[in-house]
Amino acid sequence: MSFIENLIANVIREDVRANAAYAVADGSGFVLLDQMENPYELPRALREELGQRLADAVLNRYPRGSYATLKAKVCDKLGIPAGYDVMLGNGSDELIQIVTTTVANQKRRATVLAPVPAFVMYSRAAQFAGADFVGVKLKKDFSLDMEAMLAAIALHQPAVVFLAYPNNPTGNLFAVEDIEAILRALGENGIAVLDEAYQPFARQTFMDRLPEFENLVVMRTVSKLGLAGIRLGYMTAAPQLLNEFEKVRPPYNVNVLTQVAAEFVLDHVEVLDAQAEAINAERTLLAAELAALPGVEVFPSAANFISMRVPDGAAVCEKLMSEKVLIKNLSKMHPMLANCIRVTVSTPEENSAFLNGLKAALQPGA
Ligand code: PMP
Repeated sequence: MSFIENLIANVIREDVRANAAYAVADGSGFVLLDQMENPYELPRALREELGQRLADAVLNRYPRGSYATLKAKVCDKLGIPAGYDVMLGNGSDELIQIVTTTVANQKRRATVLAPVPAFVMYSRAAQFAGADFVGVKLKKDFSLDMEAMLAAIALHQPAVVFLAYPNNPTGNLFAVEDIEAILRALGENGIAVLDEAYQPFARQTFMDRLPEFENLVVMRTVSKLGLAGIRLGYMTAAPQLLNEFEKVRPPYNVNVLTQVAAEFVLDHVEVLDAQAEAINAERTLLAAELAALPGVEVFPSAANFISMRVPDGAAVCEKLMSEKVLIKNLSKMHPMLANCIRVTVSTPEENSAFLNGLKAALQPGA
């Protein structure tokens, strides 16, 4: 073996070596329907004003650690209940990592649990934090298998349970009473993180239940709302609990440009809300069109994407790729998702591009 191979074998954790880096498709020249982004840009006039703000941003200094102005704006504009503070992250991906790192490391084993199929970062973050990850299979209709969830909680005593609300990649909202039962079962022994990344489209939240459940963390992001490029996630919980997570947060994790952009855009959040409204209307139209296609089983969605089962998922993705439309093939993610695909709900034009490609792929002999 060469020097570098030996070095890596000697130094890098075995489980890291066995893993692959999170892959993001390049996507240049494609209709991008794989990442649940908002397809609408900010209006030109706002972008120009933002450009001015960014020109005035102080770049030679570190962002001042407390982020007080931005946090106050997030609390005010994004529905954080009175008396609760937020913690900011470089996307909610970073917050997921911070939560797992706060409860576990290689010396202090802990379990992180989530229903599966789930957002892939829960298991990745758990693994890299040195936690055991337990996935509890959803029922066939993608609702929580409460018998299995409660049994797994009793058996594994997880420090953290991640619940995406709505769930990615299935799109559904779990039943409120099931989530309540999980919060109660965890009690003082475990935290439930309600990951509300798709809340702008679902319009349902556990935010108002924080006073009732002190083991509840509500996590959100501005990514799906229309600001995926700035990388800003936020989470809230009982102040004492938030304070513990705060100790693990890397200093300066939200950069000055993000700070300036978020403070400006949140003053115009109604523009993003209107875009979310338009996307929701498109979701209804697209779901109806899909439901009318023979051989397509559409799953109900409260998010800005629709997942569905098709006769041959790989063939559909390939056909769409040839038409320069990028979607997500879910087949390899979990056995429950064999031949399933996921598409972001986008503009009428981009949704049509997807529908036309899909219809062509479904033709006999295609
Ligand atoms: N949570 C869920 C459920 C997601 O689907 C995603 C992104 N696809 C994230 C969190 C990460 O969001 P962010 O862009 O804030 O890192």
